[in-house]
Amino acid sequence: MKRWLLPVTLLLLAGGCRQPAGTPEDAAGVEDAAESPLPSREEAVAEAARLAVEAARASGVERSRLLLAAARLRERTWRLERRESDALEALELLEQVADSPEPLGCGARLDRALLEGELRRSPPATYRAVYVARRRTEDAACRRRVDALLATLAAFRPLPTVLAELDRQAGDDSGIASTTLGSAGPVVVPTLPINNPTGPTRITGIERYGSEDGARIVVNLTQPALFEVGILGRQGDRGPRLYVDVAKASYKGPLELPVGGLVERVRLGKQTGGTRLVLDLRREAWRKVFYLPEPFRLVIDVAKEAPALPVAAPTGPRGVRRVVLDPGHGGHDPGAVGPAGLREKDVTLDIAHRAAPLIARELGVVTLLTRDSDVFVPLDERAARANAFQADLFLSIHCNANEDGTGRGVMTFVLDESRDPHALSIAARENASSPAAAAELASVLSRVVDQGVRARSNHFAELLQRSTMASLSPRYPDATDHGVKRAGFYVLAGARMPAALFESSFISHPTEESRLDTADYRQKLADAIVNAVRAYRDGR
Ligand SMILES: [Zn+2]
Repeated sequence: MKRWLLPVTLLLLAGGCRQPAGTPEDAAGVEDAAESPLPSREEAVAEAARLAVEAARASGVERSRLLLAAARLRERTWRLERRESDALEALELLEQVADSPEPLGCGARLDRALLEGELRRSPPATYRAVYVARRRTEDAACRRRVDALLATLAAFRPLPTVLAELDRQAGDDSGIASTTLGSAGPVVVPTLPINNPTGPTRITGIERYGSEDGARIVVNLTQPALFEVGILGRQGDRGPRLYVDVAKASYKGPLELPVGGLVERVRLGKQTGGTRLVLDLRREAWRKVFYLPEPFRLVIDVAKEAPALPVAAPTGPRGVRRVVLDPGHGGHDPGAVGPAGLREKDVTLDIAHRAAPLIARELGVVTLLTRDSDVFVPLDERAARANAFQADLFLSIHCNANEDGTGRGVMTFVLDESRDPHALSIAARENASSPAAAAELASVLSRVVDQGVRARSNHFAELLQRSTMASLSPRYPDATDHGVKRAGFYVLAGARMPAALFESSFISHPTEESRLDTADYRQKLADAIVNAVRAYRDGR
């Protein structure tokens, strides 16, 4: 891809713009801390996490200042090392400050707009993001700052028609000109029945993860909405286009969002009382569209090829070339915390770090981690990464927990319908959702999961339970086998390959927590994962 010459310019602009935000009454001492030299990425990430935790305990302006300081640390780390996760984390932190009183809110919105454009390596996108940010304030001082910034970005101002479109969208929903998209093609995914939504529905954001082989687009909504999926005929030399109509949903934001790779871009427009998203594809592609509850969102998965249909019988050697291990939680999400303070996110990362090189070395299987350090990765992105990597197996690693700390033992989950309240409450905790949402998710997804993939997920989960017991029992004879369970986990949603979620032990149980704190126990869990992958590959 052609690289813009402009990131340097934008970097300077971003730095210049931050000056007004750094006025003494703005962020005081915290700001100074954020501007001091960065010793190492690890330390910066840890400091940002500490600030975010502190912010969670604070309120009002103090909370905003702490979040802003955390965001700027992550932003600076992104500039130094260009790890996308740092920029995404910074964007999320800034959004939490965006509605703070001025001038903090203004500074956060501008930083966010600049970072967004920078992340997309697109100065015109920066212009549009800043332009839209101007709409979010009535404050005169803030508007002056935005205008000064827009003046420095004047070279990237889009055509007046594009700005007029942004204005119309922001000012008056009904005024959006209808898009030039063609009429509806055949519906390829039936509309899913959802309870009648009440009140206005808004699209609050659109996340995109793209690669050459596939992409995932997540459409966030304020509440459940009906949707319909179809294909539009080719137009001139344009590639095929996939559309998703979201009924009765309004949208304010950029009308065109670049993705890159298989999906060139996403376009949005008004369509018979709702909003139409059009994905411009570079070639014919396999797709699957489904929704996830709490918060309600549509997930559009597109891939170069349909998942290979596995043979019906889950026996015989299987082609396992790539494995994705997903260490649960990370960054500002510690996961469950044990009575002595052991954090799930640290245990899961260490187990993955122990297992991955063994899978690579002993089995010759390429292994990827969804996170390699203490960073936050959204749940939706984890399966998307496994899909993009064309993994043959996906394992999410976790530690279990329950309220009274009495629960203990090992269990492995697969994504499937469930009425088991215990299983649903575990899924709810991992999803940060309600048990009802976990049940709904499981029921929705069980309708779209390929039968062959489901059978293989089950089989792998059973192998993992067996190998874990074999690994733990000699030294820890009281290790309890809870077997394979079913529930709805966001992190497994949309994975195109056999996938399971490993609840390695209960971190909330004092004995199991102290075991999880030892290298020996973690190594035995890692060995169990390696042996399960081996057994799966060998067709046992
Ligand atoms: Zn977890």
